[in-house]
Amino acid sequence: MIGYQISYNDLAALVAQKSPNWINRATQRTTNFRQQRRYAERSPMWSEIKTVYIRLQGGKCAYCERQLEGEVYGKSEYDIEHFRPKGNVKGWSLSSVLSQQGITPTPVPNGTGGYYLLPYHLFNYAVACKPCNSVLKETYFPIAGTYDLSGHDPVALLQAEQPYLIYPIGDFDKAPEALIRFEGISPCPVVSEGHDHDRALVTIELFKLDDVIGRKNLFLERVRIMIALFPQLEILADGATGDARNSAMRVIDLYTSCQSPHTNCARSFVSLYNQNPSQARQLWEAALTVSDSTS
Ligand SMILES: [Zn+2]
Repeated sequence: MIGYQISYNDLAALVAQKSPNWINRATQRTTNFRQQRRYAERSPMWSEIKTVYIRLQGGKCAYCERQLEGEVYGKSEYDIEHFRPKGNVKGWSLSSVLSQQGITPTPVPNGTGGYYLLPYHLFNYAVACKPCNSVLKETYFPIAGTYDLSGHDPVALLQAEQPYLIYPIGDFDKAPEALIRFEGISPCPVVSEGHDHDRALVTIELFKLDDVIGRKNLFLERVRIMIALFPQLEILADGATGDARNSAMRVIDLYTSCQSPHTNCARSFVSLYNQNPSQARQLWEAALTVSDSTS
């Protein structure tokens, strides 16, 4: 995961550019939900602004950073993911590994529905791939604080609810890269304890970002990135100049761009190389072995 920094006003401007009256219609629908105290409507309209989020996120899933097809032919590959579920919140069962870490999600209130004031909040959307959104996240929303399903402001809710999942868009939640980094092809927490540590573990577990079997293509894509990056980092370290240096820099810039797939993995690998090139070499050799075994 990486973050996509944007202010609410800038995001709203992009939405208005895409669909000039969308925000007014969304406000009206939210007023209706407020009166009914629940989410209920016949024809949702968030797909109208899906391309705003596809462009913002570089055509990548918000959680696993896989790159999907472009917006012309690929829109159906993306789900608009409601970060806080709109109609229902399911209780999430911790794995035994996370239980042993002392993580204790707040029990979900029984029979109280979902976040009925947030189905049309711009800071409650992201685009995600179908495995991440439909198969894995479903309507889970584990938190450490107190559920407030009638909340209308994601910024205020962040403080009160202390969600375990990380919201990657905007300017108010922590940057995902401040919480999750990669050791080679495997994601892990940046910090060693506390809520930020637990958020990283829950996010990795819920989206199966470290499931080498269930999400093997994620791992293979990360492997290929490391294989491509290491020789370029070596070229720079050897003191290359001129065209050779420029060419290596271009490749590294390409792979570490926020518009490329698995940016967090690529940036973590570059950072490791700069701190400990021999360990980076070991991981690169391991990546080559993985690649050879699957080809
Ligand atoms: Zn995904």
